[in-house]
Amino acid sequence: EEVVSKNFIEQEIDKDLREGVYDNVCTRFPPEPNGYLHIGHAKSILLNYGLAQKYGGTFHLRFDDTNPTKEDMEFVESIKEDVQWLGADYGEHLYFASDYFDIMYECAVKLIKKGKAYVCDLSPEEIREYRGTLTEPGKNSPYRDRSVEENLALFEAMKNGEYKDGEKVLRAKIDMASPNINMRDPIIYRVAHMTHHNTGDKWCIYPMYDFAHPIEDAVEKITHSICTLEFEDHRPLYDWVVRECEFDPAPRQIEFAKLYLTNVVTGKRYIKKLVQEGIVDGWDDPRLVSIAALRRRGFTPESIKMFVEMCGVSKSQSSVDYAMLEYCIREDLKMKRPRMMAVLDPIKLVIDNYPEGEKEYLDVANNLENEELGMRQLPFERELYIERDDFMIEPPKKYFRLFPGNEVRLMHAYFVKCVGYETDEEGNVTVVHATYDPETKAGSGFTGRKVKGTIHWVPVSCAQKAEIRLYENLIDEEKGVYNKEDGSLNLNPNSLEIRKNCFVEPSFQDAKAYDSFQFVRNGYFCIDARDSRPDALVFNRIVSLKSSFKL
Ligand code: ATP
Ligand code: MG
Ligand code: MG
Repeated sequence: EEVVSKNFIEQEIDKDLREGVYDNVCTRFPPEPNGYLHIGHAKSILLNYGLAQKYGGTFHLRFDDTNPTKEDMEFVESIKEDVQWLGADYGEHLYFASDYFDIMYECAVKLIKKGKAYVCDLSPEEIREYRGTLTEPGKNSPYRDRSVEENLALFEAMKNGEYKDGEKVLRAKIDMASPNINMRDPIIYRVAHMTHHNTGDKWCIYPMYDFAHPIEDAVEKITHSICTLEFEDHRPLYDWVVRECEFDPAPRQIEFAKLYLTNVVTGKRYIKKLVQEGIVDGWDDPRLVSIAALRRRGFTPESIKMFVEMCGVSKSQSSVDYAMLEYCIREDLKMKRPRMMAVLDPIKLVIDNYPEGEKEYLDVANNLENEELGMRQLPFERELYIERDDFMIEPPKKYFRLFPGNEVRLMHAYFVKCVGYETDEEGNVTVVHATYDPETKAGSGFTGRKVKGTIHWVPVSCAQKAEIRLYENLIDEEKGVYNKEDGSLNLNPNSLEIRKNCFVEPSFQDAKAYDSFQFVRNGYFCIDARDSRPDALVFNRIVSLKSSFKL
C-alpha cells in the first residue's frame, strides 16, 4: 500500500471533518471565461477535483462570469473541453455565477438593511484618496452615515439605471482604519451600463469579485474554496461577506501558491502578442503551455496529473523546471506507446547483395518492454532510408555507425557492412552502399560476431512521407523570459524547425489526431490535430528521449 503524506489542504479538510465543521467536501474550479486555460489552471482543476474524489465529495465547474465583457462566451466551450480532457468530471455540476445575480442583489439589500452597506457618491479618485495607505488609516466617506431608507432608495435607483457609470457605488461598511486595506469599506456593487451575455440588459449594476465570489461559493454549498495566495488578505472580507449575509454552512477559503514554470509564457497579454505577430500559430501552438497547446503537442492528461502531483501543494511561491513536465510525459508514454522507426533526415542505403524486387516481412515487437502492445510486420528490402548522420565518410573516434568498411546492425533486421557511397557534384553523399549477412537476422540467435552500432531505417518502396516539427523552448533559456531593458520576450529563434522530407514506416494508416508514438532514437511524437492528413502526415515532437532531469 502506498504511504503518502497529506498536503496542508488535506490536513485542514481532515480537521474540519473531524471537528464537524462540515460533514462533506465540495470543491469548485471557478474560471473567468476570458481566455484559454493553461498549466497553472490544470493544477487548480486537478487539485480541486482530486480533493472531491478523495473525500467522496462533489466537484463543481463554475464560470465566474459576473464581469460583463464581450468576449466571454467564446471561451466557455474551450474551458469545458479542457476540464473534461483532464478527467475532472463535473457531471451535472456546471454553474454560471451570473445565474446568481438576483441572490447577490438580495444580499446587498440585506446588508443595507443591517446597516452594513451604504451608497457612496465619491468619485473613484476620491475613494482611492480616502482609502489611506499601508501606513496611514483611511478616512470615512461623507456618505457613510446615510440612513437605511436613503441607501435602499439610492441602491434601487442605481439598479433602475438612474445613474451613470461611476456616479455611485455600494460599499460595505466595515472599518476605514483596518490594517487590512481590503476591509476599508470595499466597493461591492458598481454601475456599469453593459449588456451581459447571459442576463442581457436586465442589470446595469454588477457585483465586485470580492462580494460575488463568497456568495457564489455559499450558494453552491462549497465547503473548501481553494484559491491562490494573492487572495490571502482578501480572506477576512470573504468571511465577512459570508457571515453578514448569514449563509450557513459557511464556505472556507484556503490559499495555495500558484504554479509557475520556468521559461514558459503564460501571461495572456504576451500570448496574444505572439499570436498577433504570427510567432505562434494560435492559442494551441505546441510551444505554448495552454492546456489546448499541451494536448496538441501530445501531452496526456495522465502526464499532467503526474506533474501536478510531483509539484505538490504549498504556501510558498516557487517555479518548477519545464524539464519536470518532460520527464512526466516520457514516463507516461514509455510503456504505453509503440516504438516505431522514422527517418528525419533521410539518405538512401542500398544493400547491394539483397535481391532486387524482393521483400520480406520481419516480425517486430511494438514495445519490447510491454508485450501487450503486440507485434507488427515490417517490410525489409534492398533500398532503405537511414539518417544522414548515421553515415560518415571519415568518422571521428568512437563513431560506431556506418562508415566505409564498418558493420552495424539495422534494427530488427540484419548486420550490414558499408562497401561504398555515391556523391553529387558538390560532394554531398547521395547513396550509401552496403552488403548484408543473412546469418545475422535479428532473433536468429546469431552470436558469431558483434557490432557496436545499431541504426534505424525505413523501407523505401513503402515508406510514408511525413512532415515532422521539432520544437525547442519558445524562450531563450540563457536570457530568461523577459528582456531587462524593455520587458519584451527573449524569444528563441530556433523554437520551431520544420522537416518536410521525413519518412516513417508504413504502419500509420490508422493513426488519428493526438495519437503518439516513440520514434526510436528520436523521441516521442504525436499526430498534429490541426494539420495532419492520412495521406500527408504531420507529427509534433513531444519530447526527445534523453533528459537532464533527475528525480
Ligand atoms: P490567468 O490570469 O493566468 O488566466 P486567473 O487567475 O485570471 O489566471 P481565473 O480564470 O481567474 O484565472 O482562475 C481560475 C482558477 O485558476 C482560480 O481559482 C485561480 O486561482 C486558478 N489559477 C490561475 N492561475 C493559476 C496558477 N498559475 N497556478 C494555480 N492555480 C491557478
Ligand atoms: Mg482572474
Ligand atoms: Mg483567467
